[in-house]
Amino acid sequence: MKDTELYAALLGLRPPWRIREVKLDLAADRVDIWIEEAPGAKWNCPECGKVVPLYDHAEERQWRHLDTCHCQTYLHARLPRVQCPDHGIRQVPASWAGPGAQFTLRMESQLIDTLKECDVTGVTRLTGTSWDEAWGILQKAVARGLARKQRRIPRHLSVDEKSFARRHRYETLICDAERGTVEYVVDDRRQESLEQYYRQFTPEELAGVKAVAMDMWDPYIAATQACVPGAGEKIVFDKFHVLRVVSEAMDQVRRQEHKALLVKGDERLKGTKHLWLANEENVPEWRRAEFQAVKGTNLKTGRAWAIKESLRKFWTFHYPQRAAEYFRRWYFWATHSRLTPIVNAAKTLHKHISNILTYFQHRMTNATAEGLNSKIQMVKEMACGFRNREHYKTAIYFHCGGLDLYPKVETSS
Ligand SMILES: [Zn+2]
Repeated sequence: MKDTELYAALLGLRPPWRIREVKLDLAADRVDIWIEEAPGAKWNCPECGKVVPLYDHAEERQWRHLDTCHCQTYLHARLPRVQCPDHGIRQVPASWAGPGAQFTLRMESQLIDTLKECDVTGVTRLTGTSWDEAWGILQKAVARGLARKQRRIPRHLSVDEKSFARRHRYETLICDAERGTVEYVVDDRRQESLEQYYRQFTPEELAGVKAVAMDMWDPYIAATQACVPGAGEKIVFDKFHVLRVVSEAMDQVRRQEHKALLVKGDERLKGTKHLWLANEENVPEWRRAEFQAVKGTNLKTGRAWAIKESLRKFWTFHYPQRAAEYFRRWYFWATHSRLTPIVNAAKTLHKHISNILTYFQHRMTNATAEGLNSKIQMVKEMACGFRNREHYKTAIYFHCGGLDLYPKVETSS
């Protein structure tokens, strides 16, 4: 097999395209391949498909292709231009690359695969591309994926906020709780932020939403009530967020008490923060005895901790009536604890109890709390290389959007 035939087969070139020349430069670790059309080739207008005469050839262009062994490989061609009576002079597209691309379709696909596995800087090192080139591929892949994405609203939504870069700047993430994908990312966490997502859909489509898991965050509640028919039954205050309210109250009790003890020279609570915050079964083996001892010393923190831990049982009931009854007893206990942060947290939960109880109807929690979060965390870690907020959003879509990112490669079969 001749080198030109070998590469024509590997590249899946179909007539009228053929390979004129293959040049190997071992000193430069580089292969260059020139593609041309066979004489007498027939061309169609890219716009209307009519058979049209050749007009001329554009300047020679170059595309980076998959490496040949250790050699970077480049395709070269002068693409023909045709003259259509209706559409004027048009350039015939290359079958191996998208319009205006610097990479062949196969190379683009490989770069997308690599981008999925590591950050952009890693990709540049592995593939010898520049940061802008690698990022450009990622951005294009997301644009492609979003353009292909079917307009549909998931039946089970979950809404979450994620801080971006510096603290107190947020993005709202709207997720498909069933697929575990991020559907939409929008700046801030205001009512308008979430409404911007809902407003893409008709009231009929929005009526198809069965449940929306979220934090007890008034702007999200208001947006959902304003846009989703029957929101009252559909909003589910997420288990993890509900528990966090009580955990934070407990931590406040711990901080206050620790301060007061230190004044008396009592260091009992020193270094124990994470023992109290963890779920009981997650306290590491080697610290169990220590934790047991400090718990047994009749501290306010210990009482707050018991109240926090006991709330977890709420989500284990089969029947909502039993859970509601359990909450009533828990609420009585919490509000009589004489621990102000705990009393306040209990009151917050009480105010929202009807939509905490909707859990038993829908049995859903936040998608980002389960699995998706680790992916988003990874994107955030990669985000140190991102220059702005738009980059962050693009990366979330790329890694978490469940999009069809790849260019369609023409095959010879
Ligand atoms: Zn035409």
